[in-house]
Amino acid sequence: MSETSRSLNFIEQIIEEDLEKGFAKKDLRFRFPPEPNGYLHIGHASSICLNFGLGLRYDAPVNLRFDDTNPAKEEQEFVDAIKKDVEWLGFNWDTERYASDYFQQLYDWAKKLIKDDKAYVDSQSSEEMAKQKGTPTEAGVASPYRNRSVEENLKLFEGMKNGEFDEGTHVLRAKIDMASDNMLMRDPIMYRILHRAHHRTNTDWCIYPMYDWTHGESDYIEQVSHSLCTLEFLPHRELYDWFLDQVYDSSKIRPKQREFARRNLSHTVVSKRKLAQLVENNVVNGWDDPRMSTISGLRRRGYTPESLRNFADTIGIAKRDNLIDVSLLEFHIREHLNKVTPRVMGVLKPLKLVITNYPDGQEEWLEAENSPEDESAGSREVPFSRELYIEQEDFKEEANKKFFRLKLGGEVRLKNGYIIKAESCTKDTDGNITEVQCTYDPKSKSGSGTAESLRRVKGTLHWVSIAHALTAEVRLYDRLFTHESPDTQKDKDFMEFINPNSLEVITGFLEPSLKNAKVGERFQFQRIGYFCVDKDSTDEKLVFNRTVGLRDSWAKIQQSS
Ligand code: ATP
Ligand code: MG
Repeated sequence: MSETSRSLNFIEQIIEEDLEKGFAKKDLRFRFPPEPNGYLHIGHASSICLNFGLGLRYDAPVNLRFDDTNPAKEEQEFVDAIKKDVEWLGFNWDTERYASDYFQQLYDWAKKLIKDDKAYVDSQSSEEMAKQKGTPTEAGVASPYRNRSVEENLKLFEGMKNGEFDEGTHVLRAKIDMASDNMLMRDPIMYRILHRAHHRTNTDWCIYPMYDWTHGESDYIEQVSHSLCTLEFLPHRELYDWFLDQVYDSSKIRPKQREFARRNLSHTVVSKRKLAQLVENNVVNGWDDPRMSTISGLRRRGYTPESLRNFADTIGIAKRDNLIDVSLLEFHIREHLNKVTPRVMGVLKPLKLVITNYPDGQEEWLEAENSPEDESAGSREVPFSRELYIEQEDFKEEANKKFFRLKLGGEVRLKNGYIIKAESCTKDTDGNITEVQCTYDPKSKSGSGTAESLRRVKGTLHWVSIAHALTAEVRLYDRLFTHESPDTQKDKDFMEFINPNSLEVITGFLEPSLKNAKVGERFQFQRIGYFCVDKDSTDEKLVFNRTVGLRDSWAKIQQSS
């Protein structure tokens, strides 16, 4: 669907209504606000496409804001990875911002709240405070410190900032309403003491602001007009507004929080915390393991930015959480790779085929088209000789009429080459077929213009010449989890659903044109699927990742199991 032809999503409708009510288009501003506590995943791609998509649609700036208020979990490595991923997806941010840049302003505002009798230092333990919170149907109990004097609060808060106290001894709380229906409004914590170095502010601070206190005020500082977040923040909206009320100056833009549904993908997890667990427990080989739902994992697997953007645009945004089947993501990568990848031949599970009437020691180079989708992609040459590999599953001694591959007495065309006929086969002592003997029709060469070259046979097989084949490590990936929704199962941890067969490493035999393939280059291995060169490749050994098969085989496996 093109940008203009699809109907407006509900966030765009909200913006359109604001514009109709007189909000100036030039004042629109958005942000994408990741916490740098892990790598971005496919769920974030939805949020990125939403926010940056709005920026493009309304010609409005979009900031990349790191929500870096928890030094216990955040690192520079994650900041760098996030920037790389957003850029790779094809978006440009207006300015790079950090919530930590606002620590001084937030501190000054917090003092204002204390002076306005809207905040106080609580010196109870977190257990005591939790007990006083009450329940949704039962009002909370006020802290004995709730009525500390402004002077005492200011002095204690300054002491907190100056490092005079241990962690857990004091917190700053907003003074709102211990009987509110919204539990988040029952005097939420604004600051806690953490004697931890921060990846940007180092040891300048030992008190750190909480998410709710930070997020809206950061939006306000940046003059973000529409602050879009996921649905779990809906109950936080009241608090977001309350905090803004305390500092808002009516000559400024007042940011507005609106919520959309989190996107979940089947057979994986989309949560930085859970993905971190997979990395820490060595279930996968790092954040960019091609089985991960991270943007970096998908990139390494061979996904293109276009395919992820198209996926995000297709699923759009919703008001309710739901699970998107991973086969939709696979559909989008197939669709894109079909257009842009060159075709090559490679055999993954080889069976030797000998053409008995082809002279021993002879070789010839056959012209092979690089892409049926794109004439300008040109052609290359592939070597042909007496001994070839075909796929094991492309030959059967006997088979019914629907088997359009090779069987004894039957004919197929070798892609870009000749028509062959299977005459006999050899087996080992266990009855496994080890070799197929064929004859070829020398006049049937593809593209030679002879009547025989135009003769149609039902099947066409891919193949490689054994003497010329490159060997490569080929990594075949499957779903990382056996359950479609591993992290929502009652009484079960998502780690219980890990697919033990999510990675199969084999040796593939590839046509020699792939010798100089570069890391990240993508190909269609004809009749098999899409593959890309992994970063583990060396001059001595090529390593390929299977991005996706040509067809959706998972659905079939599911049905038959
Ligand atoms: P995680 O649990 O993976 O850490 P998060 O929401 O805590 O997710 P943030 O770094 O805070 O991660 O997210 C940045 C932005 O991306 C937020 O606006 C968040 O709402 C959005 N986002 C995160 N996960 C998803 C998802 N699965 N679908 C849509 N948006 C998401
Ligand atoms: Mg988070």
